Amino acid sequence: MSSNKAPMLSKSRYLSGLQCHLRLWNSCFNRELASEVTPAQQALFGTGQEVGELATRLFPEGVLIREDHFHHEEAVQTTRNIVQDPSVSTIFEAAFLYHDVRIRVDILKRLDNGQWNMIEVKSSTSVKDIHLPDVAIQYYVLKASGLNINRAFLLLINNQYVYDGSNFDLENFFSFYDVTDEVLSIQNEIPSSIDEQHQMLSAADAPLVQPSRHCNTPFICEFWEYCTKDMPAHWIFDLYGVSQKKFDELTGMNVEDIKDIPDAFNLTELQERMRKCVKNNETFISKRLHAQLTDVEYPVHFLDFETVNPAIPRYAHTSPYQVIPFQWSDHILYEDGSLAHKEYLCDDDRDPRDDFTRTLLHALGQKGTIFIYTTYEKTIIERLAEYLPQYRDDLLRIPNRFKDLCAIIRHYFYHPGFHGSFSLKFVLPVLVPEMRYDTLSIKDGSHASFEYLRMIHPDTVSEEKEKIKEDLLVYCSQDTLAMVRIREQLMK
Ligand code: SF4
Repeated sequence: MSSNKAPMLSKSRYLSGLQCHLRLWNSCFNRELASEVTPAQQALFGTGQEVGELATRLFPEGVLIREDHFHHEEAVQTTRNIVQDPSVSTIFEAAFLYHDVRIRVDILKRLDNGQWNMIEVKSSTSVKDIHLPDVAIQYYVLKASGLNINRAFLLLINNQYVYDGSNFDLENFFSFYDVTDEVLSIQNEIPSSIDEQHQMLSAADAPLVQPSRHCNTPFICEFWEYCTKDMPAHWIFDLYGVSQKKFDELTGMNVEDIKDIPDAFNLTELQERMRKCVKNNETFISKRLHAQLTDVEYPVHFLDFETVNPAIPRYAHTSPYQVIPFQWSDHILYEDGSLAHKEYLCDDDRDPRDDFTRTLLHALGQKGTIFIYTTYEKTIIERLAEYLPQYRDDLLRIPNRFKDLCAIIRHYFYHPGFHGSFSLKFVLPVLVPEMRYDTLSIKDGSHASFEYLRMIHPDTVSEEKEKIKEDLLVYCSQDTLAMVRIREQLMK
C-alpha cells in the first residue's frame, strides 16, 4: 500500500512506468522484491558508466554538477547558477525538475546564440525505440524549465571504428544522431503519461498487471521472479517461441497451464510436442535420435568457447563490441571409451586470438566429429578465419566436422523438465542431475566474460586472479563434460 502523496518520478522511473505500471509501483514502494543484480547486468551498468565518462572527454571544457541524486534540489540550484554563467559552454549531469519529474542530462552544450543542445550518451551502436521516450522526457522537462533547446542528440558508439592499438580516437569512436524530430513528435504524449503515473502511484493499492511478454521489453524487469512465483510449473509462457498473440489468446481463455491447452488450439510442432509431454508427463524420444548421436567419427570432440565483447576495444584491429574468444575447452572421447581433456585460457591482458587459434587447431587435429552446443562456435571460427589469414584454411575446415548437440535435442528429444528451454543450463539438470551449475562460482557465459575482464584488470591482485582463473577453467570444462554426459544419457 502507498500513501496518497505520489513519490517524485525520475527519468528511469518514468521509463519503468511506460513499460509497466506495476514495475514503477514496485520500484517506488517494494524495491526489496527485486531480484539480485546479475553479473551480466552489473557489467552492462559498468559499460554504460565507462562510455559515459569517455564521452565527457569530447568536451574537455565541461563542468560537472557534482551533487548526487540524493541532493537533487541542490543540484538544480547549482545547475541554474551555471546556466546563467556564459563562460561555461558545456554542463555534465545538469539537474532539472518539472511536473514532479527529476532529470539529469548527460551533456548540455551551449551554443553561441544562447540556445542549448542536449546530448544523451548511450552505449548502443544504433538508435533503439526506447531511446526516444528517454530523450523525449528530458526534452520535455528542459523546455518546461525555460531552457531554449536547439537540437536533441543521441551520442552512440560507432561500431565501424577500428582501434589501432595506440591512439584511441574519440571522435571516431562516437557518433552523433539528431533525434529532435522524433522527440518532438511524441512531446504531446508526455504530460498525460506523467499524470497517469502520478495517479497510479497515489492510489491505495498496487495496479493489477499480469506478467507477460512486456516484462522483457525493452528491459528485463527486475520483479520477474516475484511476479511469476505463483505461476504453474508448466506455465504457457514457457511454450517454445510462443508469440504474444498466442499467449494473449490462451490467457483470454483462462489457460495458464500448458497441460490445459485445448487439443484443437493451433500450436507449432514443437509446442504441440511440449503440450503432449507435459499433459501425459512423458518424454519424447524420436526414433532418429540414436543415429544422430552415434553417426560420428572418432576421436569425438566436445567443444566450447568463452568470449568477451568489450564496448571499448582493448586490442589493436578490434572494433567496439567485437567478440574476442579467450578460452576453449575440449573433451575428447576415443573409440576405446577413454576420455581426455584439453583446454586453453588466456590469463593476461593481451589479444588472445592468435594463441587461442594455434592451440585449438593443435587440439582438434585433422579428424573426428566435434560436438558443439548451438552454432556460436561456428560463428567465432569464421571470424577468426577472417582475422588470421595464416590459419584461414585450417579454421574453415573445422565447421565441416561440427554436430550441434542442442539442435539434435531440439529436433529429437523433449522432457517436460526442460520448461521450453534447450539451453545447457536447463537440459543438464534433467539428464545429468549430479552435474550442476548452481554450485559453481561461475554460472553462465556472461558471468564468465565479466570474470575474465576482472581477472585481466591491472588492479586485480594475483591471489584473486588465480581464483578467477581456476573458476573459469572449471566452468568451461563443465560445459564440455556436460555435453559428453548428456550424449551418454541420450544414447541410453
Ligand atoms: S514482471 Fe512484468 S508484470 Fe511484474 S512488474 Fe515487471 S513488468 Fe510488471
